Amino acid sequence: MADLAYLSIAQAHEALQSGKVTCVELTQYYLDRIKKHDESIGAVLTLCSDTALEAAQKVDEKIQAGKDMGLLEGIPYTAKDMFLTAGVRTTAASKILDAFIPPYSATVIDKLNSAGAILIAKVNQDEFAHGGSTENSAYQITHNPWNTEYVPGGSSGGSAAAVAADFGIFSLGTDTGGSIRQPAAYCGVTGLKPTYGLVSRYGVVAMASSFDCIGPITRSAEDATLVLNAIQGRDVMDSTTIESTENHQSSKDLKIGVVKELMNDSRYSEALKAINGLGKKNDVTLPDGDMALAVYYVLVSSEISSNLERYDGIRYGSRNDSATNLEQTYSLTRAEFLGPEVQRRILTGTYALSSGYYDAYYKKAMQVRTLITQEFAQIFADCDVIVTPTTLEPAFKIGSKSDPVEMYKTDILTVSANLAGVPAISIPAGIDEKTGLPLGLQIIAAQGNDAQVLAVAEAFQKTTEWHKKVEEIIQ
Ligand code: GLN
Repeated sequence: MADLAYLSIAQAHEALQSGKVTCVELTQYYLDRIKKHDESIGAVLTLCSDTALEAAQKVDEKIQAGKDMGLLEGIPYTAKDMFLTAGVRTTAASKILDAFIPPYSATVIDKLNSAGAILIAKVNQDEFAHGGSTENSAYQITHNPWNTEYVPGGSSGGSAAAVAADFGIFSLGTDTGGSIRQPAAYCGVTGLKPTYGLVSRYGVVAMASSFDCIGPITRSAEDATLVLNAIQGRDVMDSTTIESTENHQSSKDLKIGVVKELMNDSRYSEALKAINGLGKKNDVTLPDGDMALAVYYVLVSSEISSNLERYDGIRYGSRNDSATNLEQTYSLTRAEFLGPEVQRRILTGTYALSSGYYDAYYKKAMQVRTLITQEFAQIFADCDVIVTPTTLEPAFKIGSKSDPVEMYKTDILTVSANLAGVPAISIPAGIDEKTGLPLGLQIIAAQGNDAQVLAVAEAFQKTTEWHKKVEEIIQ
């Protein structure tokens, strides 16, 4: 049997098609990896062994019959527990959805299913995707595969850890303010937040509907492109979706906006050299990070307070049985089954939306959101992409950020892309010498220009090796 460690989609496809490995063997390889290593990583919430092996068997029959295979056919993947999966428990890492078995699947899960990809596990996250370390999960802590004393990032920490630990070829994550890119940076993998609306949110547990994006976490930009191609496009079930767009221009006269004050960090000097080779650089300044963060948390908490109203012990989810009237049913249920960070955001959001405060907080934040979007449009009038670090620092130690605001600050460089709805990717671009942990580079482009982000990331990975380092961390 071929060596199956850290296969790309194209390599796995070739191995399957040429008969070097059967799909059952390939699927079993990941199930065995999970069995062997997940005790120390803690990425998996629900394993789908039986359905995965059954699907793999069908793929093998197709190969034996000599039929042509799509690129994603027989490719095992994991998904954050935000994605509804028919018949498979979906918790959003919350106790309030502890027993929830969805009757239908998210559009993206259906699309991957039709493309023949095989779901092998649902993975951990911060509860309802509120957080940046996966420590807010109501179930378990996930450890960074590079060093298990550190967080994998979040909220899609289970997805990033699963891809870094080779528990599947790719994973699906959600990104409301950085939850695909920040964990991808912390785990030394590639994470794409597409343009808002490019990928359907139907059947994905809602956090903040005007921010939420769905995207792939992979080990290369090439794989991210293949997954995006399979999941993007208009969906009648999500009225905010758009047709896929192809704006990618040739990288010959590419204009790269470099955020100088951030990229002058000596840890990124090698990455900057690689960027120099990709196009013409000019200096740009990003919209004010502190302001973006404040606006983000006001608006996101407001949308959370509204979206999470449905978990009231009646319409959805678990119920506290000791309540004797309706109001108690609401309050006891929500106090018992929602975690502290989720409660904090519901309270903050309700406050920002209440009459008397609405104009001062929510409306003001919406106005600043418009200004940030305009600032991005101005920057993109002069350059094709912007590059910045994904985060100011690499992963931090588990338990080291008990102050919620300290945790919020880890998103300072990622939230702006969600405020403006623009596409952004994080790719590995260095190693922090002090901790030995990976560093991420963020590439951002104008709305609808996802292909440009991916093309630049792919070109960067053609001349650099950081994205391959992940292959050495677990033997
Ligand atoms: N860490 C950010 C937050 O807690 C981002 C979350 C996300 O993108 N889902 O809001």
